[in-house]
Amino acid sequence: MTEGIEKKLQRNVPLAPLTTMRVGGASRFFLSVKSEEELSEAVKFAENEELEIFILGGGSNVLISDEGFDGLTISLEFDAIKKLHMQKNQALVYASAGRCWDEFVKFCVEQNLAGVECLSGIPGKVGAVPIQNVGAYGQEVSETIRGVRVFDLETKQIYELTKEECRFDYRSSIFNTIYKDRFIVLGVSFCLKEGGSPKIVYKDLIDIFGDKSAVSLKEVREAVIRIRRQKAMVIDESEPNSRSCGSFFKNPILTKKEFCEVIERTQALGVKSVPSFIVGHDAVKIPAAWLIERAGFYKGYRFKGAGISEKHALALVNFSNATALDILNLAELIRDRVREKFGVELVPEPVFVGFKKVVSMKI
Ligand SMILES: Cc1cc2nc3c(=O)[nH]c(=O)nc-3n(C[C@H](O)[C@H](O)[C@H](O)COP(=O)(O)OP(=O)(O)OC[C@H]3O[C@@H](n4cnc5c(N)ncnc54)[C@H](O)[C@@H]3O)c2cc1C
Repeated sequence: MTEGIEKKLQRNVPLAPLTTMRVGGASRFFLSVKSEEELSEAVKFAENEELEIFILGGGSNVLISDEGFDGLTISLEFDAIKKLHMQKNQALVYASAGRCWDEFVKFCVEQNLAGVECLSGIPGKVGAVPIQNVGAYGQEVSETIRGVRVFDLETKQIYELTKEECRFDYRSSIFNTIYKDRFIVLGVSFCLKEGGSPKIVYKDLIDIFGDKSAVSLKEVREAVIRIRRQKAMVIDESEPNSRSCGSFFKNPILTKKEFCEVIERTQALGVKSVPSFIVGHDAVKIPAAWLIERAGFYKGYRFKGAGISEKHALALVNFSNATALDILNLAELIRDRVREKFGVELVPEPVFVGFKKVVSMKI
């Protein structure tokens, strides 16, 4: 073991306080790394000791098992932001993986750079945003990502992946599908528009700004944070409903044929219309929150120490000393009832870490 790593290595570190859900056990080993060189040493250490690696960002999209993680958890602490160059009102901005995501958004808005303003208030770090192609209020990071700098755990090389190579889609990319756990994101470069207009396509924002033409990026950022706060979708120590992973389930995307089957089922139940959005040639998105509420779960529903947020039907919350198993059992209950009632399979958004028993959720 290199001396540097030995000095910094922590043992049996509780992970719950490092996550927004605040559940789960400890990590056998834990390292905070401050540079790419340190990361490379940490990877070597894990390889020598035959340890699995888990990269922890802000812990806002993970469910850690009650048994914890029997490997090495690495937290990336390098957090530089560099405005690389400007050309024809386009700015290329690079942010290191350890940077707080919302600080990055604030920086862009203050620099009058458009492209990420609707993603204000999302917890977590920059390194995690390409993983599930973070999105909200009509904007996704894939719209502005130019490239992703990664450490490849297979070849031990650093690569710059282009946006096309990342194969972004709704809440997915190569990082959480075909190459899951292969790459560590070191930093992300974004191509942003200097002096560009904010994106106002989402209903909540249209309701506020209507067709007002001269809306600033700052106004949109503030509005998004205000709306998110009303739904307990910003982290706030004094708001128990924010002790969550945000949306626990993805919004299901169905083929037109599957969607017609859902309509038949809902009509049989006396429900006249199903909210939906066409998102592709043969792809219809249905709000998971609508399915959950129609399946009989209400905001504030309780299951042991866990429950459904009082402010958003899609967020599962640790209300009072919930265990990871409570959260998982509640999620399974919801998923099974939605399937039974509408024939739709809900897929969880958070990443499950350290579960030894087979997790029956389709992820
Ligand atoms: C209140 C609340 C609101 C939210 N709202 C939204 C929303 O509007 N839209 C949305 O898309 N998400 C939302 N989320 C989910 C979450 O904030 C995002 O997915 C966020 O990007 C996760 O970042 P993180 O740093 O916390 O990642 P973590 O939770 O720490 O990790 C998530 C996954 O990414 C991996 N990972 C993290 N960093 C790296 C890295 N550098 N390299 C490789 N893998 C890495 C981890 O190993 C893990 O598999 C919300 C969560 C909460 C709690």
